[in-house]
Amino acid sequence: MTDGRAASGFSVTPPAELIGMLREPPGKVLCLGHVHPDGDVLGTLFGLGLALSAAGASVTFAGPHPVPEVLAFLPGSDRWSVWKTAPEQFDVIVMTDCPNPDRSEGLLEGARGPQSRVLNIDHHPDNRGYGTVNWIDPSAAATGEMIFDLVKALGLRVTPAVALNLFTAIHTDTGSFRYSNTTPRTFRIAAELTAAGADPALVSDRLYQQRAPDSLVQLGEVLRRVQVSEDGRIAWLTVPRGLVSREFLDAEDLVGYPRSVGGVKVAMLLREEEPGKVKASLRAKGEVPVNAIAHLFGGGGHENAAGCTLSGTLDEATGALLKAVGESLDAARPRPSK
Ligand code: 5GP
Ligand code: MN
Repeated sequence: MTDGRAASGFSVTPPAELIGMLREPPGKVLCLGHVHPDGDVLGTLFGLGLALSAAGASVTFAGPHPVPEVLAFLPGSDRWSVWKTAPEQFDVIVMTDCPNPDRSEGLLEGARGPQSRVLNIDHHPDNRGYGTVNWIDPSAAATGEMIFDLVKALGLRVTPAVALNLFTAIHTDTGSFRYSNTTPRTFRIAAELTAAGADPALVSDRLYQQRAPDSLVQLGEVLRRVQVSEDGRIAWLTVPRGLVSREFLDAEDLVGYPRSVGGVKVAMLLREEEPGKVKASLRAKGEVPVNAIAHLFGGGGHENAAGCTLSGTLDEATGALLKAVGESLDAARPRPSK
């Protein structure tokens, strides 16, 4: 790797063109989220957007779904709009952590005029390169790392509000600095963000210590459903519609429970979203790239964390995924975990 550019063509440092577009007065900026926004997408949109805002830019924050309750502590959440359609066009549209523009549910098309510049900033290796400028760095643990470098490259101030957002983005995508995507760069950036005012204890408290009293009951309902394959390689959890609340599902990292079983190589969470539609989350520990399995079903993601949506009943979706994961594990030679 030289001059910050990885051999694959991905870039570790922000492209000059991207910096140029945000440095010149960018006009009306839209920070646009994808469906069911998580800590990385919200933390990066608010982190960059608040930094631009503080420097005088006109910034709008919006997406197809609301900020989940558990992330409502993020500064900027009060400025988030939920749109069914985009009300106007913008000069600059920033999308972060979003590999596929379809995940904006049509809002990108609605907000994009002939002169609009779309800035696509992401760490997913399967990003479709749909932007006017695309900055993709799969070596980043979270898009939060990239936005930190971008804010610095732009000479913008990392205020406590910006720092809290970016710290949370990194915190959530690394499973609190526990997953194999965590690198020295992750800790260097986290240290700088902590120095700039992000409080790690506050983030842990907001993410993990604010359960509604009845959520432990719901957790109990869910945990008794964890299953492990006979050979111990796959553990999974199915959640039928109506078993637990949507808020509970948004707040809990449920796939972490089957993932936590010793010896398990692939963990899955299957949620029945509506009759005949099942959302699956896949997690691996380095043996097989689960994004390749998710691709088989029209989804995607990272090697060790991916997702897809299947049609059929919970049982059918579980059967199809167990078969695909089993075949993938059979075919795999051990990969070094990274
Ligand atoms: P999660 O399982 O937490 O929903 O998502 C894990 C990772 O897989 C995230 O990086 C997310 O972007 C990706 N992912 C989840 N669901 C889908 C999907 O339906 N399509 C694609 N392309 N990626 C997904
Ligand atoms: Mn991410």
